[in-house]
Amino acid sequence: MSAKILYGKEFAARIKEEARREADEVKRGKGIAPGLAVIIVGSDPASEVYVRNKQKACDELALYSVKVELPEETSREELIAKIDELNDDEKVHGILVQLPLPRSLAKHEAEVLNRIRPEKDVDGFHPMNVGRLSIGERTLTPCTPTGVIRMLEMANIKIDGAHAVVIGRSNIVGKPMANLLLQKNATVTVCHSHTKNLKEITRTADIIVAAVGHPKFVTADMVKDGATVIDVGINRVMVGGERKLVGDVDFDGASEVAGAITPVPGGVGLLTIAMLMHNTVAAAKMQLGI
Ligand code: NAD
Repeated sequence: MSAKILYGKEFAARIKEEARREADEVKRGKGIAPGLAVIIVGSDPASEVYVRNKQKACDELALYSVKVELPEETSREELIAKIDELNDDEKVHGILVQLPLPRSLAKHEAEVLNRIRPEKDVDGFHPMNVGRLSIGERTLTPCTPTGVIRMLEMANIKIDGAHAVVIGRSNIVGKPMANLLLQKNATVTVCHSHTKNLKEITRTADIIVAAVGHPKFVTADMVKDGATVIDVGINRVMVGGERKLVGDVDFDGASEVAGAITPVPGGVGLLTIAMLMHNTVAAAKMQLGI
């Protein structure tokens, strides 16, 4: 194995420490703790774990946190009303609706996310924040791709001038990732399910970000010698009768050629929650005029 392994834990701890320092400043200056509200509808087991971890992170940083648990049969109107209530709650600076929504509400996802006031949109999914990101304005940006940028910077991996290939074009990961890399002066190629000659493209990348949702999709032969490989994928697979988490990258193979690589689990996943804490504090600072 030749690649340097980029463990998320170390970087996440640094991001959280910074968020804690800033949250303490807000508390000292304004006497208010930055607050996060997480809404979970239904009882998806994976979502419950994510929400629990988000609450735990808030507790760790002594942020104010509210967990709103709504039953599976919640109507669109009830969910919207809850968001409106939190939009008006001065103790809450960040609002997050845990996805996926139950099937009956899935068709209202865009409306639900757009109902969160842009200044409280700590996920960075509101069209206003998406637009601001794309024109290069300072705003709340999606946690996972922003965490990737922070990690690359902290690990001293040069983004400026690098050829970055993002595999995946979702609104949650791929597109904001590409925009953030562009803002940092990378030359960005976005690949997706209709891309031809994917391997030829990825082999020219200095940085590969895999956000595909297919286990072990990026193999060693797709990676240029010494490239940085960031694995955003979280796939649950059965191995020998046991459930295991694997990424979108064939870690064992790719780490033989890459210069640096993130593991799954233990890589990018940890950055997402750290960035959520960062965004909550940033949202509080903006709303309190700091
Ligand atoms: P998505 O399903 O919305 O998007 C997947 C993207 O992959 C699509 O844009 C599609 O065009 C592309 N794709 C599919 N097949 C392809 C192929 N054969 N070649 C090239 N591109 C192809 O998924 P998402 O929400 O962007 O998530 C991607 C992965 O990241 C998932 O495994 C998800 O669980 C994970 N994820 C992790 C975090 C985290 O905190 N680490 C956060 C969000 C998502």
